[in-house]
Amino acid sequence: MSKIDFDAELNAAVRAVREAALVCQSVQSNLVTAATLEKKDRSPVTVADFASQALICSSLLEHSSIHAVVGEEDAAELREAGAEATRDKVIEHVRNIRGAAISPDQALDWIDVGGVTPDGSLERYWTLDPIDGTKGFLRGEQYAIALGLIEGGRVVAGVLGCPNLVGPDGRLGCLLSAAKGQGATVRPLDASGEDGIKPIRVSNITSTSAARFCESVEAAHSDQSQSAQIAAALGISEEPVRVDSQAKYAIVAQGEAQIYLRLPTRTDYREKIWDHAAGLIVVEEAGGRVTDVRGHDLDFGHGRQLENNSGVIATNGPIHDIVLAAVAKFVDVD
Ligand code: AMP
Ligand code: MG
Repeated sequence: MSKIDFDAELNAAVRAVREAALVCQSVQSNLVTAATLEKKDRSPVTVADFASQALICSSLLEHSSIHAVVGEEDAAELREAGAEATRDKVIEHVRNIRGAAISPDQALDWIDVGGVTPDGSLERYWTLDPIDGTKGFLRGEQYAIALGLIEGGRVVAGVLGCPNLVGPDGRLGCLLSAAKGQGATVRPLDASGEDGIKPIRVSNITSTSAARFCESVEAAHSDQSQSAQIAAALGISEEPVRVDSQAKYAIVAQGEAQIYLRLPTRTDYREKIWDHAAGLIVVEEAGGRVTDVRGHDLDFGHGRQLENNSGVIATNGPIHDIVLAAVAKFVDVD
């Protein structure tokens, strides 16, 4: 198999994620209102999620040489009777970008491009979370568009679009990208070409008492009482930074926090590959470390889930082993 042309693939991924992220940003600012919040109406995120996957898959088909996409969504739900209103809105967003001539079937087929379940025979593929942090999206807070490239069970490249994270120019919206051995960068979400790209580095602290840690807003996604015990044991006095989505990896990669704890709340839950691929490579290439709660590398070679891992610990690197030792005291890692 030929080698990956990382420059070409990253360009394709950046282009795809940026386009989808700008659509999500406009849906969030136009459709997420006090009324939808009050009603717990999920329709804005449903529409943006499907439109994002359709746009990214169609962009990868055109600009990437890798056409296998393991996405969070498929179009089955949109093809059902009763889903017409949602389907029409998704198609409207896709047509706004790809042109009025796009047929409904074409838009749904693009979503289904992401329906791949990888087996051992698939050497490389993209993995996509079209909107990671749907709850954050609905609250008008953090979410991310996450696209990672897997080869041989390892993440080799990734792009994170974070529409509500402040970028290097001080404006809302940034895009982080990384490829194996090439470092990680951030740029304004709406910048085109090479405009405004800056290298990023994790924090260089070596003492955990100076660390800030981040975790999920949702208590169901990470055990917040265990993380409080771990933070106390590490001498951390600051409150955790709670944000939705892989924006947590972006925060660690840019040195604004040093630890991301994702502590299992259930023994039977397996993390999804699209929830971690892009974030992991961005943190690693910014100089940090990512493992599971046992200190094992995340193994992306087992289908749609991280079958052999439990939880996630990301740090700036120098403090990783100290954090793992504290985790082992409070979390049942066997
Ligand atoms: P976050 O915004 O970091 O809380 O993560 C959002 C992601 O959590 C979603 O994309 C889900 O795939 C994932 N998720 C759902 N249930 C769980 C769970 N029980 N434990 C960990 N992650 C979960
Ligand atoms: Mg997700």
